[in-house]
Amino acid sequence: MEITLAVLKPHVCRNTYALQQIKALISSNFNILEAKEVRITKELSERFYAEHKGKFFYNRLTTFMHSGPCYALILQSEACIQKWRHLMGPTKVFRAVYSEPDCIRALYGLSDTRNACHGSDSEASALREIAILFPEFKIN
Ligand code: ATP
Ligand code: MG
Repeated sequence: MEITLAVLKPHVCRNTYALQQIKALISSNFNILEAKEVRITKELSERFYAEHKGKFFYNRLTTFMHSGPCYALILQSEACIQKWRHLMGPTKVFRAVYSEPDCIRALYGLSDTRNACHGSDSEASALREIAILFPEFKIN
């Protein structure tokens, strides 16, 4: 079965209600292989988002990701990557609100950067990102 990395961003972790709702949604859709609160340092956040280096939002994004604890999970299900990305909704919150008003980003996103959550976009990204946030995790 497929696995993916999900990260709940700092503003969501400060919002007890949002965190509880999203965790419940995750539990009802996936096997949770690992889950932990994680403090992402600026260096780790720059490695994690290396593909966006040079974009106008890179510094804003990496600074935001280490502004407080995040919550990271390794999820497993059939077609897990697509399934989690569908539950998250579009990257841009204004699009999410208009096109998929029940998705996580429409409900809990605050801006294009503070868009509530992250999900790996491919199997290769999932492996790379899991190795960064869960270095001790062994992939079978
Ligand atoms: P995908 O990987 O399919 O492009 P994604 O939701 O992971 O979707 P990315 O484009 O990889 O989004 O961008 C990574 C993160 O960078 C986003 O989740 C968001 O926080 C931030 N971001 C992306 N685009 C913008 C933007 N135009 N303005 C501000 N922040 C952005
Ligand atoms: Mg991405």
